[in-house]
Amino acid sequence: MGHDCSKVLSKVFLVLDGEMTEEEEKSFLKQIQECSCCLDHFEIEKEFKNFLQQKVEKKCVKVETVSSIKNKIKNLALA
Ligand SMILES: [Zn+2]
Repeated sequence: MGHDCSKVLSKVFLVLDGEMTEEEEKSFLKQIQECSCCLDHFEIEKEFKNFLQQKVEKKCVKVETVSSIKNKIKNLALA
């Protein structure tokens, strides 16, 4: 069977970023489930994206903390 893994995997990010239609996503998921290589790769990318998202969320919390500290200092200076 002519299955081109690199072609399939080039679409992984489209799926993960939600840039595919529901139909496209369905047929993509069907395709990768028939190939352990593609499926493995998809799982890795998914984990990686989750990891990055968690990092970004943590960063956001940090930025908020920094700005709230800055506000406190500003309030103190004004008082
Ligand atoms: Zn494959």
